Amino acid sequence: MIAEILSVGTELLLGDIVDTNSQYLSQKLSAMGIDVYYRSCVGDNKLRMMDTLHLALSRSDIVLITGGLGPTMDDITRECVAEAFDLPMEQDVIAAEMIRARYSKTGKQMPDNALKQAYVPQGSVVFQNSCGTAPGSATQKGDKTIIVMPGPPHEMHAMFEESVQPYLLHEDMETIHSRTLRIFGVGEPVLEEKIRDLLIVQTNPTIGIYVGFGEARIRISAKAKNADEAEALIAPVADALYAKLGDLIYGEGETTMAEVVANLLIDKNKTVATAESCTGGMIASALVGVPGVSQSFMEGHVTYSNEAKMRILGVKDETLAAHGAVSTQTACEMAEGLKRISGADYALSVTGIAGPGGGTPEKPVGLVYIGFCDENGPVASKYLFDGERQRVRQLSMLNALNQLRLALQKN
Ligand code: AMP
Ligand code: MG
Repeated sequence: MIAEILSVGTELLLGDIVDTNSQYLSQKLSAMGIDVYYRSCVGDNKLRMMDTLHLALSRSDIVLITGGLGPTMDDITRECVAEAFDLPMEQDVIAAEMIRARYSKTGKQMPDNALKQAYVPQGSVVFQNSCGTAPGSATQKGDKTIIVMPGPPHEMHAMFEESVQPYLLHEDMETIHSRTLRIFGVGEPVLEEKIRDLLIVQTNPTIGIYVGFGEARIRISAKAKNADEAEALIAPVADALYAKLGDLIYGEGETTMAEVVANLLIDKNKTVATAESCTGGMIASALVGVPGVSQSFMEGHVTYSNEAKMRILGVKDETLAAHGAVSTQTACEMAEGLKRISGADYALSVTGIAGPGGGTPEKPVGLVYIGFCDENGPVASKYLFDGERQRVRQLSMLNALNQLRLALQKN
């Protein structure tokens, strides 16, 4: 069954209102296994709405419309549906009664046009509105169905869940389930290359690659009669992806890098300390944001000035003079000094040029060194990130945490 979502309202076209209804419906329908191939948006204009509706009916089995159900002149959705199916309008007595009751309950005078909302195309299934006045409806002609729901999101959500979803489930019983793998340390094109043979043969489940912030996501989606069957289809594909990608996969679902790292530290009973320059405490803050990390996170220093790097971490004056604050040598001395003063199993350090100023041809904006020290002594990795200041800082934090993750996973 192919569905199309049509949002109605001139305010949407003007950009005054964000079309959240379409997003909501897309999510709900795909979870139900109903394919959404098109989404469109049209203003409160009869000619253009009829055009849009005819086009939608020509290519989709079911059209879900939100908006344009109010009592005023510009609310024309019902008339358009009736006209598209060549049906007269009729009053739904229950809806009319509910509208009257709603006005008498609030003590407000019912305006003459309020009952306009109780009219639906003849023969429609009427969905009562538990949060407002305008009812919704499902109207069928031949093998086409038009579903109409009110525009205000809270009314639409309630109606979808209470009435439209059960109505649709009666029509189509499949479900879609997904599992998302989170990938760090490899770009989308390389990732695609690595899993090409799996991508070529996919049908059910399907595999999609998405770009996230500093990371990639692979979503495996299966269509089946129920959740268990969908999970059973997904499992072997996920296993194959793990076999190909190994520790490039850092987690699943809505987890964060900091959660993954903090939980590894806790599980392995290891401790960490941080010394941050350009990230200014972001790594420490991300780790401290995870409940239960107190047994593992020992201390964090923001050593922004050269003076602090020397006084707190013991970075040598000569090192700073010879190589500069943003260098392999400084990152290593920061991590080594930090390990010594904290006694932590792992010491992480960051020093870099976040920009926008401060770059030189030899040391451009985005140059970052991440130092790491465990019982084997210090090492530092060099990165060159592009983008503005906050992006460079965020990417530095994620890469530092990822370095720690890889070390923890090896142990
Ligand atoms: P209507 O039913 O067209 O009179 O819409 C009533 C109100 O619902 C609008 O003024 C918007 O605030 C809201 N609304 C309508 N359509 C949408 C939509 N697609 N997404 C989010 N809000 C909407
Ligand atoms: Mg409107």
